[in-house]
Amino acid sequence: MENLSKRDKKHLWHPLTQHQTANPPIAIVKAKDALLWDEQGNEYIDGIASWYTAMYGHCNDYIVEAMQKQMQTLDFVMFSGFTHKPAVELSEKLMEILPINQSKIFFNDNGSTAIEAAIKMALQYYHNKGDKRDTLIAFEDGFHGDTFGAMSASGLSSYNGPFEDFLLKVKRIPVPQDDTIEEISAQLRKILDTHDCAAFVFEPLVQGAAGMKFHSAKGLDALIKICKITDVLCIADEIMTGFGKTGKNFASDHLENKPDIICLSKALTAGMFPLSITSCSQTVFDAFLSDTVSKGFFHAHTFSAHPLGCVAALAGIQLLSSPEILHRRNYIEKAHTEFASSIANHYKVEHVRCLGAILAIDLDVKMDRYGGLRDKLYQFFMDKGVVLRPLGNTIYVLPPYTITNAQLQKIYDTIVKAIEVF
Ligand SMILES: *Cc1c(COP(=O)(O)O)cnc(C)c1O
Repeated sequence: MENLSKRDKKHLWHPLTQHQTANPPIAIVKAKDALLWDEQGNEYIDGIASWYTAMYGHCNDYIVEAMQKQMQTLDFVMFSGFTHKPAVELSEKLMEILPINQSKIFFNDNGSTAIEAAIKMALQYYHNKGDKRDTLIAFEDGFHGDTFGAMSASGLSSYNGPFEDFLLKVKRIPVPQDDTIEEISAQLRKILDTHDCAAFVFEPLVQGAAGMKFHSAKGLDALIKICKITDVLCIADEIMTGFGKTGKNFASDHLENKPDIICLSKALTAGMFPLSITSCSQTVFDAFLSDTVSKGFFHAHTFSAHPLGCVAALAGIQLLSSPEILHRRNYIEKAHTEFASSIANHYKVEHVRCLGAILAIDLDVKMDRYGGLRDKLYQFFMDKGVVLRPLGNTIYVLPPYTITNAQLQKIYDTIVKAIEVF
């Protein structure tokens, strides 16, 4: 039998891949905690928790057990006309940790569809009030997913190129830094004056796919406040930032003005199951109440609120604030900060930043997002047994909270070697 990497080539089409030139994918046969093993027996440290999902470690026993139990009790039932304990319990649990203004939980099955539902909620919110609004506001270089609504809100041209003529109406503003708040507030006010805006969609504090770019919490707070005054709904895309990544449970916890709608996925289910949530305030929900059936939210995904995803999420949330994980989260934050200051003055380091479990380093080297040099950097890490996916010249680390001190140190050491070579 040929190996998996070879057999893969016959029938599989991979995401974000130019198959004419790409290396064959690496077949992973086993994962545990922060480690992955390929079919040749090579070991890799998962430095980005498999797209920041597996934050409590791969194959976490506690979560696996909860899922196994659930699977033997109730596998799945439609969520239209039915409900179940995992969904009810998860909604109650989320209310304890989400920003105080959140009141309702709507289930989807992935990040993009959480955003899609959020945008449709916002558009129908005004439609139901007899107010036709057709424009969204979003940050430059944001990323919100690959379905059409989510793509429209996204501002990264590497993903949207062929589809730009087919997207929703979106006006863009730059992300605010502490010294540009006034200027960007003015830009936002002008857009609000001249367009019928339904919603402002943003990744709070950190733009993940843009290269872990940070912006000012004070600035974002100011922009949300302007939207609130003019009755434009604010949608926080916490798909990357949610569940402790920024040091608090949610990036919105760093803000005074709370978003009306919040999107969650990725670490929501600890990387164990595709599931997402669009939560909203009571005000948003109330706009869908009516004696007219069609004023309800007629949006559904077959696997909405899948019980297996819900129990994984419940177990994950329990771990998130357990003493063991809190201890690890603090350790990672401190280690990142120390490592960042140790390389900040290196002549090949243009910029280094960290927040919570996120560490990002911009190399002072020109690299295309999916160019040859970036691929060499990626391969350099893989050859040393470290999985990191540089975004152009930005190397970022966002490890499982359960990563060991030695594994984290190996990631730092490998980055130092990479800085010397590239
Ligand atoms: C990953 C991601 C998405 C899209 O989620 P998918 O599950 O890949 O569709 C949207 N927004 C942000 C911030 C993300 O990180």
